[in-house]
Amino acid sequence: MVFTTADALHVNIEFLPRVPAVTKEQYNGQALVTFSYDDGYMNWYSKALPYHSKYAMPGTFNINGSRIYGDDPHFMKASHVWVADSLGIEIGAHTQDHKALTTLTDEDIIYQVATNIAVLEDLGIPVHTLAASYSDYDERVYSIVSDYFEGVRVYDGVTNQAHNYDRYWLKAKAVKNYTTVEDIQGWIDEAIQERSWLIIMLHNVVDDPIEGCANGADECDELYDTSPQVLEGVMQYINAQGKDTLLPVNTYEGIQLVEAWEQ
Ligand SMILES: [Zn+2]
Repeated sequence: MVFTTADALHVNIEFLPRVPAVTKEQYNGQALVTFSYDDGYMNWYSKALPYHSKYAMPGTFNINGSRIYGDDPHFMKASHVWVADSLGIEIGAHTQDHKALTTLTDEDIIYQVATNIAVLEDLGIPVHTLAASYSDYDERVYSIVSDYFEGVRVYDGVTNQAHNYDRYWLKAKAVKNYTTVEDIQGWIDEAIQERSWLIIMLHNVVDDPIEGCANGADECDELYDTSPQVLEGVMQYINAQGKDTLLPVNTYEGIQLVEAWEQ
């Protein structure tokens, strides 16, 4: 038998404490940090969600509509997404079929986002933000999808600050399988210094990302894997800073807090 993180924590995920919502009163211009996960991997359910609950850590799970009704066991099903939502994780869109939006016609872009939203809203889950699949994005896609969301996360490898802020072009830094807790601590220290908003982009959460890739194990889907140990180390570091210095938020909460940056 393989023990998962959920086994190790001796919990039934559905009964974990809910991640509390962030309020405007908690924001004093301090740095913000967001965990933004792409693709809807099944491993988030047992290897990320329990840590978000344990550390009361907000996050955004960006979900493809077609995958939650498909039969690929690597992806969460609708019931798992519903549990994540009920535990206080923001559910964002990631296109209906994981398409590179810049390659599509205007009509197909609309289909990819509108269907994704409809599938999630059918679960009773409100959708406010999109993470662009492959971070594939341009001005044309921007002009279309901004009618459907209150924010769009892309990539760009930098933090969000007043001078570069665009709620429909949110910047993120990507965690790769060789990214350490110390590396991410460096990103966080920089965000605290800048009083900026750091969005951390994540994908698979597997027990041994580098070893898995070296062995060609099927858990290693891509370069962008990380481990539960890295997640937990980063969450502990974030909470050690104190919320007045560094406030963890989901994507939609962050957008609402930094509204003044849009002036
Ligand atoms: Zn993706």
